[in-house]
Amino acid sequence: MAEPTKVYRNKKIVDSLIKKIKEESEKTEEKIRIMHVCGTHEHDLVKAGLRSLLPKNIELIAGPGCPVCVSSAQDVDEVLWIADNHNTTITTFGDMMRVPGSSESLYQAQGRGIDVRIVYGVSDAITIAENSPEKDVIFFSVGFETTSCVTAAEVVRTTLPNFSIYSSHKVIPPAMELLVQRDDLEFQGFLAPGHVSTIIGSKPYEFIPEKYNFPVAISGFEPVDILMGIHSLILQINANSPRVDNTYGRWVKPEGNTAALRTIDDAYVISEARWRGLGVWPATGHEISDKYSHIDAKKKYDIPELEFKELHSGCICDEILIGKTKPNECQLFMKACRPDHPVGACMVSHEGTCNVAATYEEIQWED
Ligand code: SF4
Repeated sequence: MAEPTKVYRNKKIVDSLIKKIKEESEKTEEKIRIMHVCGTHEHDLVKAGLRSLLPKNIELIAGPGCPVCVSSAQDVDEVLWIADNHNTTITTFGDMMRVPGSSESLYQAQGRGIDVRIVYGVSDAITIAENSPEKDVIFFSVGFETTSCVTAAEVVRTTLPNFSIYSSHKVIPPAMELLVQRDDLEFQGFLAPGHVSTIIGSKPYEFIPEKYNFPVAISGFEPVDILMGIHSLILQINANSPRVDNTYGRWVKPEGNTAALRTIDDAYVISEARWRGLGVWPATGHEISDKYSHIDAKKKYDIPELEFKELHSGCICDEILIGKTKPNECQLFMKACRPDHPVGACMVSHEGTCNVAATYEEIQWED
């Protein structure tokens, strides 16, 4: 059996899919804009140079799919408030260190003596808590369903008195609904994220074609995967026959990972969530359920209402995150804001739209 990467990066298969996409794109005079909602898609499609291979009338736009980028400055500020006012160790993913809060990032706070540590995941944070019972340890957890399900497993079983979780989790399908409803965005289909879909399945997207007559294709991350998703969307758009097409069937099942979903349902409740620069979006967050309030840092600490500032002067991450503007249209791009000195959240993570554009130095966006 051929190695999977040899199949999914196979030049002949890629060429044949590009040809099919081109043929289908020639059946319409209209421009077709496809939005993905996944930082991994943005990274992997730019790395593979896929935008440059597509016909001129097909445009791929990046939606709010990078979990680090969409995390609100308010969340960073609140975690820092806890650290400033209690004897704590803050733990989080490496990418979160440089995400700007209103006045400083966790990395900057570490420089003034705040105990902030990078962990690979929640279990590392728990180990730190076990080894330092005299200190409160907080895991600042961000991410979509792919990540939040791992944290959920610890929410439901961890009883360490000195450990809690600050949840900044987001939920993808309701966010997609809000994007479809926006009058200021023009796009005709969603490329849905394969890893999130491995957890939630394909069913949670079904309301999108049913209610909004809007196509969805679930896609993996190799070049062949992404092109299969794009091809499916163009077929659906041309035939005016929207549905949820699962082109990542080797991992995604209609019902998803039922064990993970049971844990998520037990650990969290759906809540509103603040998205960086985009305001509060209803029903797009996962807060820890009251049943597990002992582990909820937001309930454990009496956090006051803090004034916060989502975007630093000149940063247009709010527009970048919904694909309205391209990174090279930001006046700070690769000037004041660079991967080694990010001004905005979209430049921090290797999955952030601005970081991807800067890293691969090839802005493969339509003029
Ligand atoms: S280039 Fe930097 S400042 Fe501009 S939108 Fe992107 S992250 Fe914000």
